Amino acid sequence: MKICVLPGDGIGPEIVAEAVRVLKALDLPDLQLEEGLLGGCAVDATGNPYPEATQKLAREADAILLGAVGGPQWDSLPREQRPERGLLGIRKDLNLFGYNTMVYSESEIRRIGHVAFQAAQKRDKKLCSVDKMNVLECTQLWRDVMIEISHDYPDVELSHMLVDNAAMQLVKAPKQFDVMVTGNMFGDILSDEASMLTGSIGMLPSASLDDKNKGLYEPSHGSAPDIAGKGIANPLATILSGAFMLRWLGDRHEDPTLIESASRIEKAVELTLAQGLVIPRDLGGRASCTEVTAAICKNLKN
Ligand code: NAD
Ligand code: MN
Repeated sequence: MKICVLPGDGIGPEIVAEAVRVLKALDLPDLQLEEGLLGGCAVDATGNPYPEATQKLAREADAILLGAVGGPQWDSLPREQRPERGLLGIRKDLNLFGYNTMVYSESEIRRIGHVAFQAAQKRDKKLCSVDKMNVLECTQLWRDVMIEISHDYPDVELSHMLVDNAAMQLVKAPKQFDVMVTGNMFGDILSDEASMLTGSIGMLPSASLDDKNKGLYEPSHGSAPDIAGKGIANPLATILSGAFMLRWLGDRHEDPTLIESASRIEKAVELTLAQGLVIPRDLGGRASCTEVTAAICKNLKN
Protein backbone atom coordinates (compact mmCIF):
# COMPACT_ATOMS: atom_id res chain seq x y z
CA MET A 1 0.00 0.00 0.00
CA LYS A 2 1.57 3.27 -1.14
CA ILE A 3 0.80 6.43 0.80
CA CYS A 4 1.74 9.78 -0.67
CA VAL A 5 2.55 12.11 2.24
CA LEU A 6 2.31 15.86 1.57
CA PRO A 7 3.21 17.91 4.66
CA GLY A 8 2.61 21.30 2.98
CA ASP A 9 3.12 24.63 4.74
CA GLY A 10 2.80 26.32 8.12
CA ILE A 11 2.02 23.76 10.83
CA GLY A 12 1.60 21.12 8.07
CA PRO A 13 5.09 19.58 8.45
CA GLU A 14 4.76 19.50 12.27
CA ILE A 15 1.40 17.76 12.41
CA VAL A 16 2.07 15.41 9.50
CA ALA A 17 5.30 14.24 11.17
CA GLU A 18 3.18 13.30 14.20
CA ALA A 19 0.59 11.44 12.13
CA VAL A 20 3.44 9.55 10.44
CA ARG A 21 4.87 8.64 13.85
CA VAL A 22 1.52 7.13 14.84
CA LEU A 23 1.20 5.23 11.54
CA LYS A 24 4.72 3.83 11.99
CA ALA A 25 3.97 2.83 15.59
CA LEU A 26 1.26 0.50 14.25
CA ASP A 27 3.90 -1.70 12.58
CA LEU A 28 1.94 -2.29 9.39
CA PRO A 29 4.48 -4.02 7.12
CA ASP A 30 2.58 -3.23 3.89
CA LEU A 31 2.40 0.51 4.40
CA GLN A 32 4.92 2.48 2.30
CA LEU A 33 5.12 6.22 2.95
CA GLU A 34 6.60 8.58 0.35
CA GLU A 35 6.86 12.33 0.80
CA GLY A 36 6.24 15.04 -1.78
CA LEU A 37 5.89 18.81 -2.10
CA LEU A 38 2.58 20.61 -2.36
CA GLY A 39 1.63 24.24 -1.83
CA GLY A 40 3.92 27.11 -0.89
CA CYS A 41 6.92 24.87 -0.22
CA ALA A 42 6.53 23.48 -3.74
CA VAL A 43 6.32 26.98 -5.22
CA ASP A 44 9.54 27.91 -3.43
CA ALA A 45 11.33 24.77 -4.61
CA THR A 46 10.00 24.43 -8.17
CA GLY A 47 7.84 27.44 -9.05
CA ASN A 48 4.79 25.15 -9.28
CA PRO A 49 2.41 24.52 -6.34
CA TYR A 50 1.63 21.00 -7.67
CA PRO A 51 4.89 19.91 -9.33
CA GLU A 52 5.19 17.00 -11.73
CA ALA A 53 7.01 14.78 -9.24
CA THR A 54 4.11 15.19 -6.82
CA GLN A 55 1.59 14.51 -9.56
CA LYS A 56 3.31 11.20 -10.32
CA LEU A 57 3.49 10.26 -6.65
CA ALA A 58 -0.16 11.15 -6.01
CA ARG A 59 -1.48 9.30 -9.06
CA GLU A 60 0.43 6.12 -8.20
CA ALA A 61 -0.47 6.16 -4.52
CA ASP A 62 -3.35 4.27 -2.92
CA ALA A 63 -4.08 7.24 -0.67
CA ILE A 64 -2.79 10.73 0.06
CA LEU A 65 -2.18 12.18 3.50
CA LEU A 66 -1.98 15.97 3.50
CA GLY A 67 -1.16 18.59 6.13
CA ALA A 68 -2.30 21.99 4.92
CA VAL A 69 -1.12 24.59 2.43
CA GLY A 70 -0.87 28.35 2.31
CA GLY A 71 0.49 31.30 4.21
CA PRO A 72 0.75 35.08 4.02
CA GLN A 73 4.17 34.98 2.30
CA TRP A 74 2.53 33.55 -0.85
CA ASP A 75 -0.67 35.64 -0.86
CA SER A 76 0.70 38.28 -3.23
CA LEU A 77 1.85 35.82 -5.91
CA PRO A 78 -0.14 35.57 -9.14
CA ARG A 79 -3.12 33.30 -8.63
CA GLU A 80 -1.72 30.33 -10.61
CA GLN A 81 1.33 30.23 -8.33
CA ARG A 82 -0.53 30.37 -5.04
CA PRO A 83 -0.40 27.36 -2.73
CA GLU A 84 -4.21 26.97 -2.87
CA ARG A 85 -3.85 26.36 -6.59
CA GLY A 86 -1.84 23.26 -5.69
CA LEU A 87 -4.67 21.96 -3.57
CA LEU A 88 -7.27 22.63 -6.26
CA GLY A 89 -4.85 21.08 -8.75
CA ILE A 90 -4.46 17.79 -6.89
CA ARG A 91 -8.18 17.51 -6.17
CA LYS A 92 -8.98 18.05 -9.83
CA ASP A 93 -6.18 15.79 -11.08
CA LEU A 94 -7.31 12.91 -8.88
CA ASN A 95 -10.98 13.50 -9.66
CA LEU A 96 -11.88 14.04 -6.04
CA PHE A 97 -15.36 15.16 -6.70
CA GLY A 98 -17.48 18.04 -5.63
CA TYR A 99 -14.58 19.92 -4.15
CA ASN A 100 -13.51 22.53 -6.63
CA THR A 101 -16.79 23.86 -7.75
CA MET A 102 -19.81 25.87 -6.80
CA VAL A 103 -21.71 24.44 -9.75
CA TYR A 104 -22.76 20.81 -9.78
CA SER A 105 -24.00 18.71 -12.63
CA GLU A 106 -26.76 16.26 -11.92
CA SER A 107 -24.36 13.33 -12.27
CA GLU A 108 -22.00 14.91 -9.73
CA ILE A 109 -24.81 15.35 -7.22
CA ARG A 110 -25.69 11.71 -7.79
CA ARG A 111 -22.10 10.59 -7.05
CA ILE A 112 -21.99 12.69 -3.90
CA GLY A 113 -25.36 11.32 -2.82
CA HIS A 114 -24.30 7.70 -3.22
CA VAL A 115 -21.14 8.22 -1.15
CA ALA A 116 -23.18 9.97 1.56
CA PHE A 117 -25.78 7.18 1.72
CA GLN A 118 -23.03 4.57 1.88
CA ALA A 119 -21.34 6.49 4.69
CA ALA A 120 -24.67 6.61 6.56
CA GLN A 121 -25.10 2.85 6.08
CA LYS A 122 -21.80 2.32 7.91
CA ARG A 123 -22.98 4.48 10.81
CA ASP A 124 -26.38 5.25 12.37
CA LYS A 125 -28.29 5.06 9.07
CA LYS A 126 -29.45 8.66 9.31
CA LEU A 127 -28.63 11.16 6.56
CA CYS A 128 -29.46 14.86 6.63
CA SER A 129 -29.21 16.68 3.31
CA VAL A 130 -28.66 20.42 3.59
CA ASP A 131 -29.76 22.89 0.90
CA LYS A 132 -31.46 26.24 0.49
CA MET A 133 -34.17 25.24 -1.92
CA ASN A 134 -36.63 27.88 -0.68
CA VAL A 135 -34.42 30.71 -2.01
CA LEU A 136 -31.68 29.22 -4.18
CA GLU A 137 -33.66 27.57 -6.90
CA CYS A 138 -30.61 25.72 -8.15
CA THR A 139 -30.55 23.68 -4.94
CA GLN A 140 -33.97 22.21 -5.83
CA LEU A 141 -32.09 19.85 -8.15
CA TRP A 142 -29.87 18.85 -5.22
CA ARG A 143 -32.93 17.96 -3.15
CA ASP A 144 -34.69 16.13 -5.99
CA VAL A 145 -31.62 13.96 -6.66
CA MET A 146 -31.17 13.12 -2.97
CA ILE A 147 -34.80 11.97 -2.77
CA GLU A 148 -34.42 9.91 -5.93
CA ILE A 149 -31.26 8.18 -4.65
CA SER A 150 -32.86 7.49 -1.26
CA HIS A 151 -34.96 4.77 -2.91
CA ASP A 152 -31.75 2.76 -3.44
CA TYR A 153 -31.02 2.87 0.31
CA PRO A 154 -34.24 1.92 2.12
CA ASP A 155 -32.31 1.24 5.34
CA VAL A 156 -31.15 4.89 5.56
CA GLU A 157 -33.51 7.55 6.87
CA LEU A 158 -33.17 10.73 4.77
CA SER A 159 -34.12 14.16 6.10
CA HIS A 160 -33.72 17.66 4.64
CA MET A 161 -32.78 20.91 6.30
CA LEU A 162 -32.27 24.45 5.07
CA VAL A 163 -28.71 25.62 5.60
CA ASP A 164 -29.45 28.51 7.98
CA ASN A 165 -31.50 26.23 10.22
CA ALA A 166 -28.78 23.56 9.99
CA ALA A 167 -26.21 26.11 11.23
CA MET A 168 -28.46 26.84 14.22
CA GLN A 169 -29.38 23.20 14.93
CA LEU A 170 -25.71 22.15 14.89
CA VAL A 171 -25.11 24.40 17.87
CA LYS A 172 -28.44 23.76 19.58
CA ALA A 173 -28.69 19.99 19.36
CA PRO A 174 -25.74 18.44 17.49
CA LYS A 175 -26.61 14.87 18.47
CA GLN A 176 -29.64 14.88 16.19
CA PHE A 177 -27.21 14.55 13.26
CA ASP A 178 -25.19 11.60 12.09
CA VAL A 179 -24.10 11.97 8.44
CA MET A 180 -24.77 15.30 6.71
CA VAL A 181 -24.45 15.92 2.98
CA THR A 182 -24.28 19.27 1.22
CA GLY A 183 -22.43 21.22 -1.46
CA ASN A 184 -18.96 22.73 -1.29
CA MET A 185 -19.81 26.20 0.01
CA PHE A 186 -22.28 25.15 2.73
CA GLY A 187 -20.05 22.19 3.66
CA ASP A 188 -16.98 24.36 4.14
CA ILE A 189 -18.85 26.67 6.50
CA LEU A 190 -20.77 23.99 8.43
CA SER A 191 -17.66 21.83 8.93
CA ASP A 192 -15.74 24.70 10.56
CA GLU A 193 -18.78 25.29 12.78
CA ALA A 194 -19.05 21.58 13.60
CA SER A 195 -15.37 21.43 14.49
CA MET A 196 -16.01 23.68 17.48
CA LEU A 197 -18.44 21.09 18.87
CA THR A 198 -15.38 18.96 19.50
CA GLY A 199 -13.68 21.86 21.28
CA SER A 200 -11.36 22.98 18.51
CA ILE A 201 -10.79 22.90 14.78
CA GLY A 202 -7.59 21.03 15.67
CA MET A 203 -9.69 17.88 16.22
CA LEU A 204 -11.50 17.32 12.94
CA PRO A 205 -10.29 14.93 10.21
CA SER A 206 -11.59 15.11 6.65
CA ALA A 207 -11.44 13.11 3.43
CA SER A 208 -12.17 13.74 -0.22
CA LEU A 209 -12.79 10.67 -2.36
CA ASP A 210 -12.92 9.76 -6.02
CA ASP A 211 -15.51 7.42 -7.52
CA LYS A 212 -13.39 4.40 -6.57
CA ASN A 213 -13.00 5.67 -3.01
CA LYS A 214 -9.34 6.55 -3.45
CA GLY A 215 -8.96 9.41 -1.06
CA LEU A 216 -7.05 12.45 0.06
CA TYR A 217 -7.06 12.74 3.84
CA GLU A 218 -6.35 15.97 5.69
CA PRO A 219 -7.25 17.87 8.83
CA SER A 220 -10.17 20.24 8.21
CA HIS A 221 -8.17 23.23 9.44
CA GLY A 222 -5.62 25.29 7.52
CA SER A 223 -1.88 25.85 7.88
CA ALA A 224 -2.26 28.07 10.99
CA PRO A 225 0.69 30.36 10.18
CA ASP A 226 0.10 32.19 13.48
CA ILE A 227 1.39 29.19 15.48
CA ALA A 228 3.68 27.53 12.92
CA GLY A 229 7.11 26.50 14.18
CA LYS A 230 6.15 26.82 17.84
CA GLY A 231 5.52 23.13 18.43
CA ILE A 232 2.10 23.83 19.96
CA ALA A 233 -0.26 22.80 17.14
CA ASN A 234 -2.80 20.12 17.92
CA PRO A 235 -1.86 17.07 15.79
CA LEU A 236 -5.07 15.14 16.53
CA ALA A 237 -7.01 16.18 13.41
CA THR A 238 -4.13 14.89 11.28
CA ILE A 239 -3.64 11.75 13.36
CA LEU A 240 -7.38 11.06 13.03
CA SER A 241 -7.15 11.75 9.28
CA GLY A 242 -4.57 8.93 9.25
CA ALA A 243 -7.11 6.70 10.99
CA PHE A 244 -9.76 7.73 8.47
CA MET A 245 -7.32 6.80 5.71
CA LEU A 246 -6.65 3.34 7.14
CA ARG A 247 -10.38 2.67 7.55
CA TRP A 248 -11.22 3.57 3.93
CA LEU A 249 -8.14 1.72 2.64
CA GLY A 250 -9.11 -1.31 4.69
CA ASP A 251 -12.62 -1.13 3.33
CA ARG A 252 -11.46 -0.72 -0.24
CA HIS A 253 -8.90 -3.54 -0.09
CA GLU A 254 -10.91 -5.76 2.26
CA ASP A 255 -8.13 -5.74 4.81
CA PRO A 256 -9.44 -6.10 8.38
CA THR A 257 -6.00 -5.32 9.87
CA LEU A 258 -6.17 -1.80 8.48
CA ILE A 259 -9.69 -1.29 9.83
CA GLU A 260 -8.58 -2.56 13.24
CA SER A 261 -5.59 -0.20 13.14
CA ALA A 262 -7.94 2.71 12.44
CA SER A 263 -9.98 1.80 15.52
CA ARG A 264 -6.81 1.48 17.58
CA ILE A 265 -5.82 5.06 16.71
CA GLU A 266 -9.31 6.40 17.43
CA LYS A 267 -9.47 4.60 20.77
CA ALA A 268 -6.00 5.84 21.74
CA VAL A 269 -7.08 9.43 21.01
CA GLU A 270 -10.26 8.98 23.06
CA LEU A 271 -8.36 7.40 25.93
CA THR A 272 -5.70 10.11 25.95
CA LEU A 273 -8.32 12.87 26.14
CA ALA A 274 -10.32 10.98 28.79
CA GLN A 275 -7.19 10.54 30.94
CA GLY A 276 -6.86 14.32 30.90
CA LEU A 277 -3.10 14.26 31.51
CA VAL A 278 -1.88 15.24 28.06
CA ILE A 279 -4.18 17.85 26.52
CA PRO A 280 -3.20 20.09 23.58
CA ARG A 281 -3.24 23.86 24.06
CA ASP A 282 -6.22 24.61 21.84
CA LEU A 283 -8.30 22.37 24.13
CA GLY A 284 -7.11 24.23 27.21
CA GLY A 285 -4.16 21.99 28.11
CA ARG A 286 -0.40 22.54 28.06
CA ALA A 287 0.92 19.66 25.99
CA SER A 288 3.12 20.25 22.97
CA CYS A 289 2.50 18.69 19.58
CA THR A 290 5.04 15.90 20.20
CA GLU A 291 3.85 15.23 23.76
CA VAL A 292 0.34 14.61 22.45
CA THR A 293 1.67 12.10 19.93
CA ALA A 294 3.81 10.35 22.53
CA ALA A 295 0.70 9.84 24.68
CA ILE A 296 -1.26 8.49 21.69
CA CYS A 297 1.55 6.05 20.81
CA LYS A 298 1.67 4.84 24.41
CA ASN A 299 -2.10 4.34 24.47
CA LEU A 300 -1.99 2.39 21.20
CA LYS A 301 -0.66 -0.43 23.32
CA ASN A 302 -3.49 -0.29 25.89
P1 NAD B 1 -6.58 28.03 9.95
O1 NAD B 1 -7.46 26.84 10.09
O2 NAD B 1 -5.22 27.79 9.44
O3 NAD B 1 -6.47 28.76 11.38
C1 NAD B 1 -7.62 29.27 12.07
C2 NAD B 1 -7.28 29.37 13.57
O4 NAD B 1 -7.28 28.06 14.12
C3 NAD B 1 -5.89 29.96 13.86
O5 NAD B 1 -5.97 30.73 15.02
C4 NAD B 1 -5.03 28.74 14.09
O6 NAD B 1 -3.93 28.97 14.97
C5 NAD B 1 -6.03 27.76 14.71
N1 NAD B 1 -5.67 26.36 14.38
C6 NAD B 1 -5.84 25.75 13.18
N2 NAD B 1 -5.38 24.50 13.23
C7 NAD B 1 -4.92 24.31 14.48
C8 NAD B 1 -4.30 23.21 15.16
N3 NAD B 1 -4.08 22.03 14.55
N4 NAD B 1 -3.94 23.36 16.46
C9 NAD B 1 -4.16 24.53 17.09
N5 NAD B 1 -4.73 25.60 16.52
C10 NAD B 1 -5.10 25.49 15.22
O7 NAD B 1 -7.39 29.06 9.01
P2 NAD B 1 -6.93 30.49 8.44
O8 NAD B 1 -6.16 31.23 9.49
O9 NAD B 1 -8.15 31.06 7.86
O10 NAD B 1 -5.95 30.16 7.22
C11 NAD B 1 -4.52 30.12 7.32
C12 NAD B 1 -3.92 29.62 6.01
O11 NAD B 1 -4.35 28.28 5.80
C13 NAD B 1 -4.37 30.40 4.78
O12 NAD B 1 -3.27 30.55 3.93
C14 NAD B 1 -5.43 29.54 4.15
O13 NAD B 1 -5.52 29.71 2.75
C15 NAD B 1 -4.90 28.16 4.49
N6 NAD B 1 -5.94 27.12 4.51
C16 NAD B 1 -5.59 25.91 3.97
C17 NAD B 1 -6.48 24.86 4.01
C18 NAD B 1 -6.05 23.53 3.42
O14 NAD B 1 -4.88 23.34 3.15
N7 NAD B 1 -6.95 22.61 3.21
C19 NAD B 1 -7.73 25.02 4.61
C20 NAD B 1 -8.04 26.25 5.21
C21 NAD B 1 -7.13 27.29 5.15
MN1 MN C 1 -12.70 25.29 5.61
